[in-house]
Amino acid sequence: METAEIRRRWLDFFERNGHTVVPSSPLLYDDPNLLFVNAGMVPFKPYFLGQETPPFRRATSVQKCVRTGDIEEVGKTTRHGTFFQMNGNFAFGDYFKEGAIRFAWELVTGSEAEGGLGFDPDSVWVTVLGPGHHPDYPEGDREAYDLWRAMGVPAERIQGRSLKDNYWHMGVDGPGGPCSEIYIDRGPDYGREGGPEVDEDRYLEIWNLVFDTEIITDVKAKDDFRVVGPLPSQNIDTGMGLERVALLLQGVDNLYEIDEVYPVIEAAEQLSGRRYGHNEADDVRFRVVADHVRSSLMLIGDGVTPGNEGRGYVLRRLLRRAVRSMRLLGVEEPVLPVLLPVSKDRMKASYPELERDFGRISTIAYAEEQAFRRTLAAGTTILDNAVTSAKASGAGSLGGDAAFALHDTYGFPIDLTLEMAAEQGLSVDEEGFRRLMGEQRARAKADAKAKKQGHGDTHAYREIADTLGRAVQFTGYDEVVSEA
Ligand code: ATP
Ligand code: MG
Ligand code: MG
Ligand code: MG
Repeated sequence: METAEIRRRWLDFFERNGHTVVPSSPLLYDDPNLLFVNAGMVPFKPYFLGQETPPFRRATSVQKCVRTGDIEEVGKTTRHGTFFQMNGNFAFGDYFKEGAIRFAWELVTGSEAEGGLGFDPDSVWVTVLGPGHHPDYPEGDREAYDLWRAMGVPAERIQGRSLKDNYWHMGVDGPGGPCSEIYIDRGPDYGREGGPEVDEDRYLEIWNLVFDTEIITDVKAKDDFRVVGPLPSQNIDTGMGLERVALLLQGVDNLYEIDEVYPVIEAAEQLSGRRYGHNEADDVRFRVVADHVRSSLMLIGDGVTPGNEGRGYVLRRLLRRAVRSMRLLGVEEPVLPVLLPVSKDRMKASYPELERDFGRISTIAYAEEQAFRRTLAAGTTILDNAVTSAKASGAGSLGGDAAFALHDTYGFPIDLTLEMAAEQGLSVDEEGFRRLMGEQRARAKADAKAKKQGHGDTHAYREIADTLGRAVQFTGYDEVVSEA
């Protein structure tokens, strides 16, 4: 089943069941806490909090999402994209647990002929909040447990888990509540028996049903927050990963092999002359390329331009990683003029505006690749020399002075130096690098003071980029900027 078809089935199913179809918001949403929309509920947040009255009691959408916190997972796990689409159904003071669980069961296990997704009921596992994790649920979420049992899910395929997995909040003050997740068992070829608690690769998480009931604050972690009190109404917020369902229904191994993504891998094979599926290190690169090209396409499509800060830096990083991964696959020529149109052709069925805007999108992407190629050409030899001499002297790491020189003279962001050094088995003296950066900053400040002008210091921008780049890399999947 094609991804676009699954998406259609989703919207049809919930429209038939009284939900208003709401188009995806752009990835850039006006929320000061978020870099990008990272879940389907984000545009509905004011309704959940009771700050605005929703024009509908039930809604459904297929929301474009970007989770920068998942960048490092891409290509290594089978299930994380930086860009992905989240199917959602939402109820504001309307149906609650019973309705949400019934809809989910019907859609997941309903036959294809009847508009369902046709999963074998015996392959479905579910999780609920387990006992002893939340004062309001001393025995766990019994209600959700009983509802799943009533759908016919056997007790041994229902697992109780902790707040980390079965309580959902945005990572900031706002709505929260226990959740219940649906997993599909992919069989013994994919890992160990024992349910999602044991192996999240074999048991693939496809859908999270969140039962929003309370307002929380003082959020420090997934499982560390304080409850303020109940929400004005009990709400349903669910999110299903469209690409994850697609990979299962298309019978492929991972998210990068679905119809919307795989053609970019094929184009990369042609460019490089290497084959996908023969060497794990190359395969990770192929997947990174396909994922990042698609994310970049969608981000530029929604108005992001490469830059040295915040959102622009995320885009820059994605584009650069795609280009670098192609170099590691042996391709020195420009790659985006080949790969980007392939990605656009796969995505335009669901996003026709990509075709219309492709002139603008491609101009931005290709210019960024050119600029990056110049940076790489200038810095790579220097880096290689530094690596060789570090190795010759028996050092396990590259000196902070080398990293600083690369940054200062050749515009290498520290994350690039770290990545390239790591490929050669070396770490980098980051502390030394930061000390030199700090000294330079102090010098620049003194200089600017002397000249009574503070605007000519372009290093300041690179510093921001470096700090942000690191923060983005290590932020949890909630992407809370205020934590970064
Ligand atoms: P995981 O544990 O696999 O990282 P999650 O628990 O972080 O997923 P949720 O926050 O529950 O994910 O999001 C709802 C759904 O969105 C998930 O059940 C999954 O199907 C999908 N999803 C989440 N992150 C990604 C991603 N990086 N790429 C593709 N789909 C995703
Ligand atoms: Mg999860
Ligand atoms: Mg989840
Ligand atoms: Mg996650």
